[in-house]
Amino acid sequence: MHIHLSSPWFAPRAVVARYRCVILLLAAARLLPAAEPLSLQALPGGVAAVELAIESKAMGEAMPALVLLPPSYAQRPAARYPVLYLLHCAGGDYRMWAQGTGLIRELASRELIVVCPEGTPQGWFLDSPVRPRSAVETHLVRELIPRIDREFRTLAARSGRAIGGFSMGGHGAITLAAKHPDLFASASSFGGILDLPRWPGQWGLDAVLGPLATNREAWIAQSAMGLAGRFAKEAAGMKLLIDCGLDDFALPENRAFHQRLGVLGVPHVYRERAGGHRLDYYSRHLPAHLDFHLAALSEAASAPPAGAPATGYFTHPAFLKHRTGEGHPERPERLTAIETALKQKGLWDRLAHPVPAPASLATLQLVHTADYIATARRDIEAGRTTLSTGDTTVSPESWDAALLAAGAVCDAVDAVLTGKLRNAFCAVRPPGHHACPARGMGFCVFNNIAIGARHALRARGLDRVLVIDWDVHHGNGTQDAFWTDPAVLQFHTQERGIYPGSGKEGERGAGAAEGRILNFPLERGSGIEVFAKLYTERLAPAARAFKPQLILVSAGYDSHADDPLGGLALRSEDFGRLTRIVLDLADELCQGRVVIALEGGYDLNALGASAAATIAELESRSRAVQIKARTPSQPATTTEQPMEKTR
Ligand SMILES: [Zn+2]
Repeated sequence: MHIHLSSPWFAPRAVVARYRCVILLLAAARLLPAAEPLSLQALPGGVAAVELAIESKAMGEAMPALVLLPPSYAQRPAARYPVLYLLHCAGGDYRMWAQGTGLIRELASRELIVVCPEGTPQGWFLDSPVRPRSAVETHLVRELIPRIDREFRTLAARSGRAIGGFSMGGHGAITLAAKHPDLFASASSFGGILDLPRWPGQWGLDAVLGPLATNREAWIAQSAMGLAGRFAKEAAGMKLLIDCGLDDFALPENRAFHQRLGVLGVPHVYRERAGGHRLDYYSRHLPAHLDFHLAALSEAASAPPAGAPATGYFTHPAFLKHRTGEGHPERPERLTAIETALKQKGLWDRLAHPVPAPASLATLQLVHTADYIATARRDIEAGRTTLSTGDTTVSPESWDAALLAAGAVCDAVDAVLTGKLRNAFCAVRPPGHHACPARGMGFCVFNNIAIGARHALRARGLDRVLVIDWDVHHGNGTQDAFWTDPAVLQFHTQERGIYPGSGKEGERGAGAAEGRILNFPLERGSGIEVFAKLYTERLAPAARAFKPQLILVSAGYDSHADDPLGGLALRSEDFGRLTRIVLDLADELCQGRVVIALEGGYDLNALGASAAATIAELESRSRAVQIKARTPSQPATTTEQPMEKTR
């Protein structure tokens, strides 16, 4: 070892005394013959130890490893656990972490399996380019980890694996995380040797990498410093904790690595504390490292895995440029209010954010007449402030916004039908449900939800689409668009006697579509109990009889009690309840396919909270499906605030 290290891994006497029984048990465990059935050794605090001996092709010999199981492991036979791989220093071995670091004591209160592999004194946790049979990296990645996942109830996924280590082990943790981002979600280093070319002639590095003078490239390529760029690319998103004592001889390279990550824009946690390159220092800070990994893994497990169906949030900056003038209730701030509410509830980062494309003229014509489309375009391009067909305020940017609003719903329908997303919310402006085939009105230019429904039927080959409209105003444009189309079942609730005046009980559709339209005008002051009764007693049976392949919702939040334009009495959380009923129907009838598009809602606070309540239900349903698909049982992990964060 380096001159600064006077047996740095050697446990202080007091700690040895305290854990003498542990050490004895571990010593006894080592005497177990290799490849025997698992033999549990009981340790203080209910922790159990298992010593493995793995016949290693990579190393050409049996490689030991120590597995430490938390107390709950035996008590919860169905639970699966995250795993932290803890790597030893060049002077230590696989028993190092269990001897006098306080690890056993800390593990007694945590839901985590710790695996301590053997790295050999000078193996450096890499595959040596010059020394055959020195392939600790291959041993860990191809032999040890699969064995652990086979023999223990691990989560067996990236989001369930972390790696950490001290000194040579710190180097090992950071480099293995950089090289195998598919295996680990977080990595931490105590006093890591992070820049190998600083240390020619030390700790067997020349033997494992060849002389620095002739093999400099290999030294750099195997260094945390040389691999740092990977954390900005292949290993982006890895949670990193770099920790070094202020008297540690490795402090300069730890500071340099911290700076390098900063230059690369890689988020990480960096800590410096009083102390040297000694295991007792790291023992003091071990609890913080364990909690760092538990928090990182908890976060990784709850984030939607790349490519898995999640909830999409479709919006576009162009929607903010559709200007309606001073004092108009349908204003750009509505979308900002929703975004703010989502961020405050921590939902924003859990959503997929696809960028919608504008609808083509052919797509608009699925619902609207060519004459009306031309009229709307002419009105907007001529600089009119109101459509000539009705009470829809426009500005020069409204044409682009209107095409994108319809396009967003079509894109959301496509993403949900192809399984790219589980469900979606379209935060669009201008709204759509008053726009009729031949005229815009009621703040609406094109009927986004109707276009989305026809797109699903005509372009995607569906036979049956259910449209639900909970806006306080009747969706007259949607009703008109499908008045004689039996492929669409409509369920409308609206306040009786207000704009636009349609939506009476007797309006039921015509011809083959007679009975496909369900209208429920509600008395002023009606609240969630009225809605919930209609949704369960009228909507649900009609939906079951119709068997929709997709459910679309015209989500107007002007049915909120605080809305200045409506007289119904829903509260923000009630929209979550309605969304749950819709999602239950979708799960039962059409593989959970739901696309929701914003219509009205003019009290900014009510709108933000209500839309967030809707989206929270969409998101939690997507996540439940992902977790169900990933693992049958997942233990809760404790999350603590990380230490000082830095970039
Ligand atoms: Zn409305």
